[in-house]
Amino acid sequence: MRRRKRDDGRDEGRRAARCGVDRVSPSAAGVVIRDGLTDRIDRRLRARSVPLTDEELERPAIVLAPHPDDETLGCGGLIARKRDRGIPVTVVFMTDGAQSHANLVDADELAARRRHEAAAACAVLGVEPSAINHLDIRDGALSASAAHATELLSPLLDTARGHQLIVPHPDESPLDHQATFHIADQALKRSGDTMDALLYPVWLWDQFPFTNPWSAPRARHSSRSILRIAARDRLGWRIPSVLTRRIDVSSVLERKRRALEEHATQMARQDGRDDWLTLEDVAHGDWLARLLQPDEYYQDRAVGAGRGSAMSTESTEGADR
Ligand SMILES: [Zn+2]
Repeated sequence: MRRRKRDDGRDEGRRAARCGVDRVSPSAAGVVIRDGLTDRIDRRLRARSVPLTDEELERPAIVLAPHPDDETLGCGGLIARKRDRGIPVTVVFMTDGAQSHANLVDADELAARRRHEAAAACAVLGVEPSAINHLDIRDGALSASAAHATELLSPLLDTARGHQLIVPHPDESPLDHQATFHIADQALKRSGDTMDALLYPVWLWDQFPFTNPWSAPRARHSSRSILRIAARDRLGWRIPSVLTRRIDVSSVLERKRRALEEHATQMARQDGRDDWLTLEDVAHGDWLARLLQPDEYYQDRAVGAGRGSAMSTESTEGADR
């Protein structure tokens, strides 16, 4: 759980407060419009996206998670489905997650708690303890530590030649998420390697119309203001042309949910504190609900030295439902 551009604990709190606390409900007409737009994009997303093939599902994978919980939120269903078939999955946690509640708890203590939670979540998803790696970069400092992180990641990618790379989508807002993609890309370019990657969205879903963009407190929003927001924030419309691959994770959704519960510092208020924000607080739960849908969506792309040879699914619109 890390968000947006300024990766410090105070910003985390402010952002969560904006998402979950200050936001207000729109007018009834606004809700109808937003739901209608969401349905329309969902239908398009489903119609355009191509299910992962058996060959892709049965390919060993290395998953890069900027923070403990991203592996479950973004691709927990895919991990569980691979593990159910006995396919090797390695998980690399890039940072220690120590900033998620830095205003409330000592960073080292929080890092230790999150490391423990990550192991428990991976166990639920079926990932072997020996397949879990921590780079232990400080949460929020991944971009600034890119050279060091590349050194640490390179040997792990070397041992994963021929695997599928599962990595956050580079269009995500949090800097650690962007940095994770770019560090992997750099490490592969340096060694002259290319990997077939699946890019997973986490914070990409936190945009209109999937989540509620209204931030001004005590305002009531008319349908006109919703259309203004829609015109301004067009990213949501782009989603179906970006996330062109999908996998049905309904058979493992309950496990994904249980794995997520293992990230207790992100899912439940801790230490008796009412001001301990959780993932459910983001956008009144809309964002978390989006990540627990029966399908996970991805973009496929070659990453590294030969990224120009990326597979394209752009021409497959409507090919599969
Ligand atoms: Zn994250």
